[in-house]
Amino acid sequence: MPELPEVETIARGLASRVTGDVIESIWLGRKPEPLKSPAAEIAATVENTRIATVRRVGKHIVFDLERVGRTLTSVKGRQLNSPHKAAAAAADPAAADPAAHAHWIVHLGMTGRLQVCDAQSEILKHTHAILKLASGRELRFVDPRRFGRLSVARDGAFDATGIEPLDIDLDRFIALFRGRKTPIKSALLNQKLLRGVGNIYADESLFRAGIRPRRRAAAITRDQLAKLFAAVREVLKEAIALGGSSISDYVGADGEEGFFQLQHRVYGREGDPCLVCKTPIKRIVIAGRSSHYCPKCQQ
Ligand SMILES: [Zn+2]
Repeated sequence: MPELPEVETIARGLASRVTGDVIESIWLGRKPEPLKSPAAEIAATVENTRIATVRRVGKHIVFDLERVGRTLTSVKGRQLNSPHKAAAAAADPAAADPAAHAHWIVHLGMTGRLQVCDAQSEILKHTHAILKLASGRELRFVDPRRFGRLSVARDGAFDATGIEPLDIDLDRFIALFRGRKTPIKSALLNQKLLRGVGNIYADESLFRAGIRPRRRAAAITRDQLAKLFAAVREVLKEAIALGGSSISDYVGADGEEGFFQLQHRVYGREGDPCLVCKTPIKRIVIAGRSSHYCPKCQQ
């Protein structure tokens, strides 16, 4: 499942490819699972809009859309260079259109992918949405396992829970864990606290901070939480930096290309020697998720 750094990489890749392009129409498949908003609402929101930006919010990819269709029609015939253009646009009924600023939101789930391709490109199995772009290209959502979700929101109505781990400051980070009796690993994965930190980066951060995943969040000292804060940011930033090299593979190609991943120090290394002290890495299950740690380096 893509975590924060992968979603960030994908969002940046998409931004570089489709910003400024206009969504002319959308085709949605018949499978109901990928549609978190009703199909008609998705179509009404995204059609005839310009993609203003593409950004990551938590593990969501958010396309910020500006309506173009009706505004262009009603402005047509007016002097485009007129100094009154701005005033005319402001008085335009389309300017008050609630869909004038809207968002198309994609959650990739386990296996979701966004493809930017020529309209002639073969349509892959498990394609659930095709957006026709004015540039002649198409933006397609492909998801074999159908855990991904497509939705739309009006301006301001989209607010993912939790705080961005790369935006938060140390005091707010520490406050997140105050009084929490859950294992620190579970708290890190709780999307209502921090957005976008998943299993791999939680394990890697706890290793770098020297904290065992099962420790109760509330019992961890301020100094240790400060180390964890630094570790989470370091791990995410390193992974984002590495991800840059795989942008084209992921969003452009039709293959199953993965990411150039961070060298894992504990994740997936059960029984292998710790890279620091050579103690075999342990794997335990916390709240149904595998957790990997070094029993010597992490206390
Ligand atoms: Zn160790």
